Amino acid sequence: MNKNLIRCLFAGLIITSSCMVQQQKQSNTAQDDVARVLKTLSADDMLGRDAMKPEEIGKAADFIASEFKVAGLKYFDGLKTYRQSFEIKTVKSAGGSLMINGKMVSKENYAVSSTEENVNISTLPKIIEIKTGDNFNTKYREAVNLNEDALILVNESFKSTFTRFKGFIERGSMSFEVKKSPNVIFLLSNEVPQTIALMHKNTISNLPMFNVVGILPGKSKPNEYVVFSGHYDHIGILKASNQDSIANGADDDASGTTAVIQLAKHFAKEKNNERTLVFVAFTAEEIGGYGSQYFSKQLNPEQTIAMFNIEMIGKESKFGLNNAFITGYERSDFGKILQKNLEGTIFKFYPDPYPAQNLFYRSDNATLARLGVPAHTISSDQIDTDKLYHSVDDEFESMNIGNITEIIKAIAISSKSIISGEDTPTRITGVK
Ligand SMILES: [Zn+2]
Repeated sequence: MNKNLIRCLFAGLIITSSCMVQQQKQSNTAQDDVARVLKTLSADDMLGRDAMKPEEIGKAADFIASEFKVAGLKYFDGLKTYRQSFEIKTVKSAGGSLMINGKMVSKENYAVSSTEENVNISTLPKIIEIKTGDNFNTKYREAVNLNEDALILVNESFKSTFTRFKGFIERGSMSFEVKKSPNVIFLLSNEVPQTIALMHKNTISNLPMFNVVGILPGKSKPNEYVVFSGHYDHIGILKASNQDSIANGADDDASGTTAVIQLAKHFAKEKNNERTLVFVAFTAEEIGGYGSQYFSKQLNPEQTIAMFNIEMIGKESKFGLNNAFITGYERSDFGKILQKNLEGTIFKFYPDPYPAQNLFYRSDNATLARLGVPAHTISSDQIDTDKLYHSVDDEFESMNIGNITEIIKAIAISSKSIISGEDTPTRITGVK
Protein backbone atom coordinates (compact mmCIF):
# COMPACT_ATOMS: atom_id res chain seq x y z
CA MET A 1 0.00 0.00 0.00
CA ASN A 2 1.24 3.49 -0.71
CA LYS A 3 0.37 6.96 0.47
CA ASN A 4 -2.26 7.46 -2.23
CA LEU A 5 -3.96 4.27 -1.26
CA ILE A 6 -4.06 5.43 2.33
CA ARG A 7 -5.90 8.55 1.26
CA CYS A 8 -8.36 6.64 -0.89
CA LEU A 9 -9.20 4.21 1.87
CA PHE A 10 -9.68 7.02 4.29
CA ALA A 11 -12.03 8.86 2.00
CA GLY A 12 -14.07 5.67 1.78
CA LEU A 13 -13.66 5.41 -1.97
CA ILE A 14 -13.71 2.29 -4.04
CA ILE A 15 -10.20 1.75 -5.29
CA THR A 16 -10.44 2.38 -8.98
CA SER A 17 -8.71 4.75 -11.35
CA SER A 18 -11.17 7.45 -10.35
CA CYS A 19 -9.62 7.20 -6.95
CA MET A 20 -6.35 8.46 -8.34
CA VAL A 21 -8.04 11.44 -9.96
CA GLN A 22 -10.08 12.33 -6.94
CA GLN A 23 -7.31 11.64 -4.49
CA GLN A 24 -6.00 15.20 -4.22
CA LYS A 25 -9.47 16.72 -3.93
CA GLN A 26 -10.52 14.26 -1.23
CA SER A 27 -7.34 14.85 0.68
CA ASN A 28 -7.91 18.60 0.69
CA THR A 29 -11.46 18.07 1.89
CA ALA A 30 -10.20 15.89 4.74
CA GLN A 31 -7.61 18.51 5.72
CA ASP A 32 -10.16 21.32 5.51
CA ASP A 33 -12.49 19.55 7.91
CA VAL A 34 -9.63 18.76 10.30
CA ALA A 35 -8.67 22.46 10.23
CA ARG A 36 -12.26 23.66 10.73
CA VAL A 37 -12.90 21.41 13.74
CA LEU A 38 -9.53 22.05 15.37
CA LYS A 39 -9.81 25.80 14.84
CA THR A 40 -13.28 25.88 16.38
CA LEU A 41 -12.25 23.85 19.45
CA SER A 42 -9.15 25.95 20.10
CA ALA A 43 -10.68 29.36 19.38
CA ASP A 44 -10.42 32.12 21.99
CA ASP A 45 -14.18 32.06 22.55
CA MET A 46 -13.86 28.55 24.03
CA LEU A 47 -11.93 30.24 26.87
CA GLY A 48 -9.54 27.35 27.43
CA ARG A 49 -12.27 24.68 27.94
CA ASP A 50 -12.05 24.62 31.72
CA ALA A 51 -13.89 21.57 33.14
CA MET A 52 -14.54 23.52 36.35
CA LYS A 53 -16.68 26.01 34.38
CA PRO A 54 -19.72 24.11 33.06
CA GLU A 55 -21.10 27.02 31.01
CA GLU A 56 -17.84 27.63 29.23
CA ILE A 57 -16.85 24.04 28.54
CA GLY A 58 -20.48 23.35 27.61
CA LYS A 59 -19.91 25.31 24.43
CA ALA A 60 -17.17 22.90 23.35
CA ALA A 61 -19.35 19.92 24.37
CA ASP A 62 -22.24 21.22 22.23
CA PHE A 63 -19.93 21.64 19.26
CA ILE A 64 -18.58 18.08 19.57
CA ALA A 65 -22.15 16.76 19.93
CA SER A 66 -23.19 18.60 16.77
CA GLU A 67 -20.31 16.97 14.88
CA PHE A 68 -21.29 13.53 16.24
CA LYS A 69 -24.80 14.24 14.99
CA VAL A 70 -23.52 15.12 11.51
CA ALA A 71 -21.55 11.85 11.56
CA GLY A 72 -24.77 9.99 12.38
CA LEU A 73 -23.58 8.43 15.65
CA LYS A 74 -26.10 6.77 17.96
CA TYR A 75 -26.36 7.55 21.66
CA PHE A 76 -24.36 5.48 24.12
CA ASP A 77 -26.25 2.78 26.09
CA GLY A 78 -29.08 4.27 28.10
CA LEU A 79 -28.43 7.91 27.17
CA LYS A 80 -30.86 10.27 25.43
CA THR A 81 -28.21 12.76 24.39
CA TYR A 82 -24.53 12.73 23.44
CA ARG A 83 -23.71 14.23 26.82
CA GLN A 84 -22.74 11.70 29.49
CA SER A 85 -23.35 13.77 32.60
CA PHE A 86 -22.18 13.25 36.17
CA GLU A 87 -21.38 15.31 39.23
CA ILE A 88 -18.21 15.98 41.14
CA LYS A 89 -18.23 17.24 44.72
CA THR A 90 -15.91 20.07 45.56
CA VAL A 91 -14.86 20.98 49.08
CA LYS A 92 -13.47 24.48 49.55
CA SER A 93 -12.46 26.40 52.65
CA ALA A 94 -14.88 29.20 53.57
CA GLY A 95 -12.73 30.55 56.38
CA GLY A 96 -13.07 30.77 60.14
CA SER A 97 -10.86 31.53 63.13
CA LEU A 98 -8.18 29.84 65.19
CA MET A 99 -7.11 30.72 68.74
CA ILE A 100 -3.98 29.18 70.22
CA ASN A 101 -3.07 29.76 73.88
CA GLY A 102 -5.88 32.33 74.01
CA LYS A 103 -4.48 34.40 71.14
CA MET A 104 -5.94 34.81 67.66
CA VAL A 105 -3.70 33.33 64.94
CA SER A 106 -3.31 35.40 61.79
CA LYS A 107 -4.78 33.87 58.61
CA GLU A 108 -1.37 33.55 56.91
CA ASN A 109 -0.10 31.27 59.65
CA TYR A 110 -2.55 28.39 59.56
CA ALA A 111 -4.54 26.18 57.20
CA VAL A 112 -7.20 23.53 57.79
CA SER A 113 -7.57 20.38 55.74
CA SER A 114 -11.01 18.87 56.28
CA THR A 115 -14.02 17.51 54.38
CA GLU A 116 -16.62 18.56 56.97
CA GLU A 117 -18.87 21.58 56.49
CA ASN A 118 -18.38 22.75 60.07
CA VAL A 119 -15.23 22.04 62.01
CA ASN A 120 -15.15 22.97 65.71
CA ILE A 121 -12.18 21.83 67.76
CA SER A 122 -11.61 22.79 71.39
CA THR A 123 -9.38 19.92 72.54
CA LEU A 124 -5.84 19.67 71.25
CA PRO A 125 -5.48 16.74 68.85
CA LYS A 126 -2.21 14.84 68.44
CA ILE A 127 0.66 17.28 67.72
CA ILE A 128 3.29 16.43 65.14
CA GLU A 129 6.26 18.78 64.98
CA ILE A 130 8.21 19.62 61.84
CA LYS A 131 11.37 21.06 63.36
CA THR A 132 14.21 23.07 61.82
CA GLY A 133 16.34 20.73 59.72
CA ASP A 134 13.61 18.04 59.36
CA ASN A 135 12.71 16.73 55.91
CA PHE A 136 9.37 18.52 55.41
CA ASN A 137 7.93 16.02 52.93
CA THR A 138 8.79 12.93 54.98
CA LYS A 139 7.32 14.46 58.13
CA TYR A 140 4.25 15.68 56.27
CA ARG A 141 3.58 12.21 54.86
CA GLU A 142 4.03 10.69 58.30
CA ALA A 143 1.41 13.07 59.67
CA VAL A 144 -1.08 12.47 56.87
CA ASN A 145 -0.68 8.68 57.14
CA LEU A 146 -1.65 8.83 60.80
CA ASN A 147 -5.25 8.94 59.64
CA GLU A 148 -6.53 10.76 62.73
CA ASP A 149 -7.13 14.39 63.66
CA ALA A 150 -3.80 16.15 64.08
CA LEU A 151 -2.11 19.50 64.45
CA ILE A 152 1.06 19.80 62.43
CA LEU A 153 3.30 22.35 64.06
CA VAL A 154 5.57 23.75 61.37
CA ASN A 155 8.71 25.58 62.45
CA GLU A 156 8.92 29.14 61.12
CA SER A 157 12.11 28.27 59.22
CA PHE A 158 9.76 26.51 56.74
CA LYS A 159 7.73 29.67 56.03
CA SER A 160 7.92 29.53 52.23
CA THR A 161 7.18 25.77 52.04
CA PHE A 162 4.30 26.29 54.48
CA THR A 163 2.83 29.06 52.31
CA ARG A 164 2.95 26.80 49.25
CA PHE A 165 1.21 24.00 51.14
CA LYS A 166 -1.42 26.39 52.47
CA GLY A 167 -2.16 27.52 48.90
CA PHE A 168 -2.49 23.89 47.82
CA ILE A 169 -4.84 22.99 50.69
CA GLU A 170 -7.00 26.05 50.16
CA ARG A 171 -7.53 25.33 46.50
CA GLY A 172 -9.84 22.65 47.87
CA SER A 173 -10.47 19.04 46.91
CA MET A 174 -12.61 17.21 44.37
CA SER A 175 -14.09 13.71 44.41
CA PHE A 176 -17.05 11.63 43.22
CA GLU A 177 -18.11 11.29 46.83
CA VAL A 178 -17.12 13.26 49.91
CA LYS A 179 -15.64 10.80 52.38
CA LYS A 180 -15.02 11.77 55.97
CA SER A 181 -11.32 12.35 56.43
CA PRO A 182 -9.33 13.46 59.49
CA ASN A 183 -9.20 17.18 60.31
CA VAL A 184 -5.62 18.35 60.02
CA ILE A 185 -4.55 21.80 61.20
CA PHE A 186 -1.28 23.23 59.89
CA LEU A 187 0.17 25.87 62.19
CA LEU A 188 3.26 27.94 61.45
CA SER A 189 4.76 28.66 64.87
CA ASN A 190 7.77 27.93 67.05
CA GLU A 191 5.62 27.70 70.16
CA VAL A 192 3.99 24.40 71.21
CA PRO A 193 0.23 24.98 71.71
CA GLN A 194 -1.35 24.42 75.13
CA THR A 195 -4.97 25.28 74.22
CA ILE A 196 -6.94 25.47 70.98
CA ALA A 197 -10.22 26.94 69.76
CA LEU A 198 -10.88 26.34 66.06
CA MET A 199 -14.02 27.30 64.17
CA HIS A 200 -13.82 26.57 60.46
CA LYS A 201 -16.27 26.23 57.60
CA ASN A 202 -16.05 24.47 54.24
CA THR A 203 -18.38 24.88 51.29
CA ILE A 204 -19.36 21.60 49.65
CA SER A 205 -20.82 21.99 46.15
CA ASN A 206 -21.89 19.85 43.22
CA LEU A 207 -20.06 20.54 39.99
CA PRO A 208 -21.78 19.26 36.83
CA MET A 209 -19.45 17.60 34.34
CA PHE A 210 -20.02 15.80 31.05
CA ASN A 211 -18.21 13.60 28.55
CA VAL A 212 -19.48 13.58 24.97
CA VAL A 213 -20.11 10.03 23.69
CA GLY A 214 -21.55 8.48 20.55
CA ILE A 215 -21.47 4.98 19.08
CA LEU A 216 -21.65 3.00 15.86
CA PRO A 217 -23.21 -0.35 16.79
CA GLY A 218 -21.26 -3.39 15.59
CA LYS A 219 -22.80 -5.53 12.83
CA SER A 220 -21.96 -8.98 14.18
CA LYS A 221 -20.29 -8.32 17.56
CA PRO A 222 -22.33 -5.49 19.09
CA ASN A 223 -21.26 -6.40 22.63
CA GLU A 224 -17.59 -5.96 21.92
CA TYR A 225 -16.42 -2.35 22.17
CA VAL A 226 -13.53 -0.52 20.54
CA VAL A 227 -13.04 2.94 22.04
CA PHE A 228 -11.60 6.01 20.27
CA SER A 229 -11.01 8.85 22.70
CA GLY A 230 -9.40 12.19 23.41
CA HIS A 231 -9.95 14.75 26.14
CA TYR A 232 -11.70 17.98 25.19
CA ASP A 233 -11.05 19.89 28.40
CA HIS A 234 -8.00 22.09 28.86
CA ILE A 235 -6.61 24.36 31.57
CA GLY A 236 -8.73 27.51 31.05
CA ILE A 237 -7.32 30.98 31.70
CA LEU A 238 -3.73 31.55 32.83
CA LYS A 239 -1.77 34.59 33.96
CA ALA A 240 -1.48 36.94 30.97
CA SER A 241 1.63 36.79 28.84
CA ASN A 242 1.89 39.41 26.06
CA GLN A 243 -1.80 40.34 26.53
CA ASP A 244 -2.88 36.72 26.02
CA SER A 245 -4.30 34.75 28.90
CA ILE A 246 -6.33 32.02 27.16
CA ALA A 247 -4.76 28.56 27.15
CA ASN A 248 -6.24 27.43 23.82
CA GLY A 249 -5.07 23.84 24.07
CA ALA A 250 -4.95 23.34 20.31
CA ASP A 251 -2.54 20.43 20.57
CA ASP A 252 -3.65 19.43 24.09
CA ASP A 253 -6.07 18.02 23.26
CA ALA A 254 -8.22 19.71 20.63
CA SER A 255 -6.05 17.75 18.17
CA GLY A 256 -7.02 14.39 19.69
CA THR A 257 -10.68 15.41 19.94
CA THR A 258 -10.59 16.42 16.27
CA ALA A 259 -9.21 12.97 15.45
CA VAL A 260 -12.08 11.31 17.35
CA ILE A 261 -14.62 13.37 15.36
CA GLN A 262 -12.94 12.58 12.02
CA LEU A 263 -12.72 8.87 12.83
CA ALA A 264 -16.42 8.88 13.74
CA LYS A 265 -17.26 10.42 10.36
CA HIS A 266 -14.96 8.00 8.54
CA PHE A 267 -16.28 4.80 10.13
CA ALA A 268 -19.88 5.99 9.87
CA LYS A 269 -19.36 6.29 6.11
CA GLU A 270 -17.64 2.91 5.86
CA LYS A 271 -20.53 1.17 7.69
CA ASN A 272 -18.59 -2.07 8.04
CA ASN A 273 -17.58 -2.28 11.69
CA GLU A 274 -18.28 -5.71 13.13
CA ARG A 275 -17.54 -4.54 16.67
CA THR A 276 -19.28 -1.55 18.29
CA LEU A 277 -17.20 1.62 18.02
CA VAL A 278 -17.40 4.10 20.88
CA PHE A 279 -16.27 7.68 20.26
CA VAL A 280 -15.72 9.70 23.40
CA ALA A 281 -14.44 13.16 24.25
CA PHE A 282 -13.48 13.14 27.92
CA THR A 283 -13.80 16.02 30.33
CA ALA A 284 -11.57 16.82 33.33
CA GLU A 285 -8.46 14.99 32.16
CA GLU A 286 -6.33 17.94 33.19
CA ILE A 287 -7.65 18.02 36.75
CA GLY A 288 -7.61 14.35 37.70
CA GLY A 289 -9.15 12.28 34.92
CA TYR A 290 -12.70 12.32 36.31
CA GLY A 291 -14.29 11.99 32.85
CA SER A 292 -12.54 8.75 31.97
CA GLN A 293 -13.07 7.39 35.48
CA TYR A 294 -16.81 7.94 35.22
CA PHE A 295 -16.90 6.55 31.68
CA SER A 296 -15.00 3.41 32.73
CA LYS A 297 -17.77 2.60 35.21
CA GLN A 298 -20.49 2.79 32.54
CA LEU A 299 -19.19 -0.07 30.43
CA ASN A 300 -17.95 -3.56 31.12
CA PRO A 301 -14.15 -3.61 30.83
CA GLU A 302 -14.31 -7.30 29.85
CA GLN A 303 -16.28 -6.32 26.74
CA THR A 304 -13.90 -3.50 25.89
CA ILE A 305 -11.49 -4.91 23.32
CA ALA A 306 -9.20 -1.92 22.86
CA MET A 307 -8.87 1.80 23.48
CA PHE A 308 -7.23 4.21 21.03
CA ASN A 309 -6.66 7.30 23.16
CA ILE A 310 -5.34 10.20 21.11
CA GLU A 311 -3.35 12.98 22.78
CA MET A 312 -1.36 15.80 21.22
CA ILE A 313 -0.93 14.84 17.58
CA GLY A 314 -0.69 18.46 16.39
CA LYS A 315 3.04 18.77 15.83
CA GLU A 316 5.72 16.77 14.08
CA SER A 317 7.26 13.99 16.20
CA LYS A 318 10.96 13.61 16.98
CA PHE A 319 11.09 11.07 14.11
CA GLY A 320 9.73 13.62 11.58
CA LEU A 321 6.50 13.52 9.58
CA ASN A 322 4.15 10.57 9.04
CA ASN A 323 4.58 8.79 12.32
CA ALA A 324 3.41 8.79 15.90
CA PHE A 325 4.20 6.79 19.02
CA ILE A 326 2.22 4.50 21.26
CA THR A 327 2.52 4.68 25.06
CA GLY A 328 2.84 1.41 26.99
CA TYR A 329 3.79 -0.30 23.72
CA GLU A 330 5.28 -3.35 25.50
CA ARG A 331 2.25 -3.88 27.73
CA SER A 332 0.10 -5.61 25.05
CA ASP A 333 0.35 -6.53 21.36
CA PHE A 334 -1.89 -3.58 20.39
CA GLY A 335 1.08 -1.71 18.87
CA LYS A 336 2.23 -4.73 16.87
CA ILE A 337 -1.25 -5.17 15.40
CA LEU A 338 -1.34 -1.51 14.39
CA GLN A 339 2.10 -1.75 12.81
CA LYS A 340 1.11 -4.88 10.88
CA ASN A 341 -1.94 -3.12 9.46
CA LEU A 342 0.24 -0.23 8.30
CA GLU A 343 2.71 -2.39 6.40
CA GLY A 344 3.24 -1.05 2.90
CA THR A 345 2.34 2.53 3.84
CA ILE A 346 4.85 5.24 4.61
CA PHE A 347 3.35 5.72 8.04
CA LYS A 348 5.00 4.27 11.17
CA PHE A 349 4.02 3.81 14.80
CA TYR A 350 6.94 3.76 17.24
CA PRO A 351 7.07 2.70 20.89
CA ASP A 352 7.00 5.71 23.23
CA PRO A 353 10.49 7.31 23.04
CA TYR A 354 10.07 9.10 26.39
CA PRO A 355 9.74 6.32 29.01
CA ALA A 356 11.07 8.65 31.73
CA GLN A 357 8.06 10.95 31.19
CA ASN A 358 5.58 8.25 32.28
CA LEU A 359 3.20 9.21 29.50
CA PHE A 360 1.30 5.91 29.80
CA TYR A 361 0.04 7.11 33.17
CA ARG A 362 -0.45 10.73 32.13
CA SER A 363 -3.60 10.36 30.11
CA ASP A 364 -7.07 8.80 30.18
CA ASN A 365 -5.90 5.42 28.83
CA ALA A 366 -4.44 4.50 32.24
CA THR A 367 -7.90 4.35 33.83
CA LEU A 368 -9.07 1.66 31.40
CA ALA A 369 -5.69 -0.09 31.41
CA ARG A 370 -6.03 -0.56 35.17
CA LEU A 371 -9.19 -2.55 34.39
CA GLY A 372 -7.30 -4.79 31.96
CA VAL A 373 -8.23 -3.07 28.70
CA PRO A 374 -5.45 -2.80 26.09
CA ALA A 375 -5.71 0.99 26.35
CA HIS A 376 -2.90 3.05 24.87
CA THR A 377 -2.29 6.66 23.96
CA ILE A 378 -1.20 7.66 20.47
CA SER A 379 0.80 10.91 20.35
CA SER A 380 3.42 12.77 18.34
CA ASP A 381 4.41 15.34 20.94
CA GLN A 382 8.06 16.08 21.71
CA ILE A 383 7.13 16.35 25.34
CA ASP A 384 10.71 16.74 26.60
CA THR A 385 11.25 20.00 24.70
CA ASP A 386 7.70 21.23 23.97
CA LYS A 387 7.70 24.89 25.06
CA LEU A 388 4.06 25.40 24.07
CA TYR A 389 2.81 22.65 26.40
CA HIS A 390 0.28 24.07 28.91
CA SER A 391 1.04 27.64 27.84
CA VAL A 392 -1.10 30.37 26.24
CA ASP A 393 0.80 29.70 22.98
CA ASP A 394 -0.61 26.21 22.35
CA GLU A 395 -2.62 27.69 19.48
CA PHE A 396 -4.09 26.66 16.13
CA GLU A 397 -1.25 28.44 14.27
CA SER A 398 1.31 25.95 15.64
CA MET A 399 -0.61 22.94 14.29
CA ASN A 400 0.55 20.94 11.28
CA ILE A 401 -2.82 20.14 9.70
CA GLY A 402 -1.37 17.93 6.94
CA ASN A 403 0.47 15.75 9.43
CA ILE A 404 -2.54 15.53 11.77
CA THR A 405 -4.66 14.35 8.84
CA GLU A 406 -2.08 11.65 8.02
CA ILE A 407 -2.03 10.47 11.65
CA ILE A 408 -5.83 10.22 11.68
CA LYS A 409 -5.76 8.21 8.43
CA ALA A 410 -3.11 5.94 9.88
CA ILE A 411 -5.26 5.31 12.98
CA ALA A 412 -8.20 4.45 10.71
CA ILE A 413 -6.12 1.96 8.73
CA SER A 414 -4.23 0.48 11.65
CA SER A 415 -7.41 -0.22 13.64
CA LYS A 416 -8.96 -2.14 10.74
CA SER A 417 -8.39 -5.71 11.92
CA ILE A 418 -9.47 -4.80 15.45
CA ILE A 419 -12.80 -3.29 14.44
CA SER A 420 -13.44 -6.18 12.04
CA GLY A 421 -13.02 -8.66 14.88
CA GLU A 422 -10.07 -10.34 13.17
CA ASP A 423 -7.55 -9.25 15.82
CA THR A 424 -8.02 -8.96 19.58
CA PRO A 425 -5.12 -7.35 21.42
CA THR A 426 -3.81 -9.09 24.54
CA ARG A 427 -5.12 -7.77 27.86
CA ILE A 428 -3.03 -5.50 30.03
CA THR A 429 -2.13 -6.59 33.55
CA GLY A 430 -0.29 -5.09 36.48
CA VAL A 431 -1.10 -1.41 35.97
CA LYS A 432 -1.01 0.36 39.35
ZN1 LIG B 1 -3.71 16.27 27.28
